[in-house]
Amino acid sequence: MTRSQTQPQRHGPVRVWTLSTGPLQENAVLVAGEQNEGFLFDPGDEADKVLAWVKASGVAVRGILLTHAHFDHIGAVQPVREALKVPVYLHPADLPIYQLGAASAARWNLPFIQPGPPEHAITQGQTFSAGDLTLTAREVPGHAPGHVVFVDQSSGFVVAGDTLFRGGIGRTDLPGGDHAQLLAGISGELMSLPDTTTVYPGHGPATTIGFERRSNPFLQ
Ligand SMILES: [Zn+2]
Ligand SMILES: [Zn+2]
Repeated sequence: MTRSQTQPQRHGPVRVWTLSTGPLQENAVLVAGEQNEGFLFDPGDEADKVLAWVKASGVAVRGILLTHAHFDHIGAVQPVREALKVPVYLHPADLPIYQLGAASAARWNLPFIQPGPPEHAITQGQTFSAGDLTLTAREVPGHAPGHVVFVDQSSGFVVAGDTLFRGGIGRTDLPGGDHAQLLAGISGELMSLPDTTTVYPGHGPATTIGFERRSNPFLQ
């Protein structure tokens, strides 16, 4: 299980922090380049904890990028966007799930703050830059219809949300899920990355493309 990191992982000039949030242990991810500007991914719960973590990092956050809109990934979006005064980005195919966040959380009997609509849409191949940092969005639907991952190929890591986990893949039995589509997306957009690429998943510990290529039972 990923715990709160005070020390970031280094990938060349880029630093990556992860923070496990909420009862579903969802990983928020913070990424910054050398100029200390960056992006926050999937602030899922515990807004106060997320904000303290961002503040301690010293990173100037330029936007909140969402891998997908399951409620455990968006539960802190509203208080965090208000505190940081930054826009929210989401793939439009996940808007229906985003709008049903409160209803989904209620089925788990979990408290939830429904966020207002995202400001911006994410598209395949879209790049996100902050200072010297640049990430590229790749569509990997199947766990959710609008799921995207964010790749920094030059620094060698990917923010993968609920597509690929250490020893697992995202569940596909939720509304809009499609197992064959998820496998095709993992194969095309993730397993095409170099083996040394670090994978930061939405739950659990980080892994690498090479480790999953060799040992993930879902990819054999
Ligand atoms: Zn999910
Ligand atoms: Zn999740």
